[in-house]
Amino acid sequence: MQELTHYINGEMVKGTSGRFTDVYNPATGEVQAKVPLATIEELNKAIEDAAEAQVAWANTNPQRRARVMMKFGALINEHMEELAELVSKEHGKTIPDAKGDVQRGLEVVEVCMGAPSLLKGEYMDNGGPGIDLYAMRQALGVVAGITPFNFPAMIPLWKMAPAIACGNAMILKPSERCPSTSLRLAELLTEAGLPKGVLQVINGDKEVVDGILDNETIQAVGFVGSTPIAQYIYGRAATNGKRAQCFGGAKNHMIIMPDADMDKAADALIGAGYGAAGERCMAISVAVPVGQETADKLIEKLVPRIEKLKVGPYTAGDDVDYGPVITAASKERINKLITSGVEQGADLVIDGRDFSLQGYENGFFCGPSLFDNVTPDMEIYKEEIFGPVLSTVRTENYEEALDLIMTNNYGNGTAIYTADGDTARDFAHRVNVGMVGINFPIPVPLSYFSFGGWKKSAFGDLNQYGPDAFKFYTKTKTVTARWFSGIKDGAALNFKAMD
Ligand code: NAD
Repeated sequence: MQELTHYINGEMVKGTSGRFTDVYNPATGEVQAKVPLATIEELNKAIEDAAEAQVAWANTNPQRRARVMMKFGALINEHMEELAELVSKEHGKTIPDAKGDVQRGLEVVEVCMGAPSLLKGEYMDNGGPGIDLYAMRQALGVVAGITPFNFPAMIPLWKMAPAIACGNAMILKPSERCPSTSLRLAELLTEAGLPKGVLQVINGDKEVVDGILDNETIQAVGFVGSTPIAQYIYGRAATNGKRAQCFGGAKNHMIIMPDADMDKAADALIGAGYGAAGERCMAISVAVPVGQETADKLIEKLVPRIEKLKVGPYTAGDDVDYGPVITAASKERINKLITSGVEQGADLVIDGRDFSLQGYENGFFCGPSLFDNVTPDMEIYKEEIFGPVLSTVRTENYEEALDLIMTNNYGNGTAIYTADGDTARDFAHRVNVGMVGINFPIPVPLSYFSFGGWKKSAFGDLNQYGPDAFKFYTKTKTVTARWFSGIKDGAALNFKAMD
């Protein structure tokens, strides 16, 4: 069986702890590799080496650092097929979806090619008599990225590219379920010219994460994962005096107004609800039709579309709409939540619990499920299911629909489908959610904006990628300068007689 490694000082390095965790092929249910779980000693040594490498890297001019990003971007493009395959093999998503995963990370690398213009700082001429002020943005030192399983390329790239372009070194702790893409990306960064030690990929579990949070050299922590862990990491990092931004889970709603194009709304819900088996933090998991007639029409449009969905392994190519979920435990949890929905009185219109695929009976596949008449007190509404399950909460009017979203604990993404600009504008203005789609189901902002939720979907300050990332990964130093009159007034050059 394949034994995976860490990536330390420019090389794949075997783990020394003797502790491993299994990496599955979710389509077959087989263990395909084992990944080492680092010790605190391995972690601390990697951090020490990163700190040493960071000094020269921060002193490398920003344009030269940006050139590494340019080469890195070219290499990602060149290796797109290989990277997508690595993603699919461990995560299970389809190849086109895996390419999207790589592509949305690559777009952040592309913004980092222009890092110098985002690192320029500020200047005030004559802030007082003969006084100038300037503020510079300097790298933090060694920072850490801790990432989830569901975007094995995109989220590590969101972390590493801006941190490194700003002149930091990074310790990346990818998800132990999908570690291979991060290891390969680190290798490509070295090939692009990144000095050894500036990016260290350390595999591990809670022990390593706690080691990162308690290590005094680590200046900042960027986390993405589930809400309880995000909150925990934010608390411990902040207590230890670190800068922290921790992005958590979600429960994203889509309002369907009576004037919406119902075919377009149904198509959008299929992609946003069932794509990637619902394992996206921006997945739409709650459809909120306004009015009984809208709800009836929507369900009528959704059912045949859901029945047509093809579930299978990524190796089946274009024939598949979505793949397995990540683990057997995840499948079991999803099925239990569906059962709780039935027990609590929701209407299970389509039941995906008994799904089985010939030849892949041990794979972690879930059929698509659709609920109608879900109410906010039910477990299926309250929990982030993270599976191919769409819940419908019927509402009587727009205000009731908006209130449902406003009072939900999460605030990552949301969407509205309507033909009315006034309603859409009101929604975008009032809703307390970080990313809003208008006739757009998964409003992940492009890489030159930034990504972040509100409420329990994010802890800390500033968003991921875009201009916010350049603020997060640098600290401001402000200089107030005055120069007394000197050589220009001739004071130093004139031969002066003694008074
Ligand atoms: P997770 O919280 O289980 O794991 C995320 C990371 O935290 C992993 O690297 C893992 O090793 C580590 N970790 C897990 N348990 C830990 C513990 N007890 N102590 C310290 N570290 C721990 O999340 P996941 O299952 O990998 O990812 C899915 C979750 O991520 C979903 O909730 C999803 O909504 C969320 N997510 C959020 C965003 C966002 O930007 N808001 C993006 C993608 C995914």
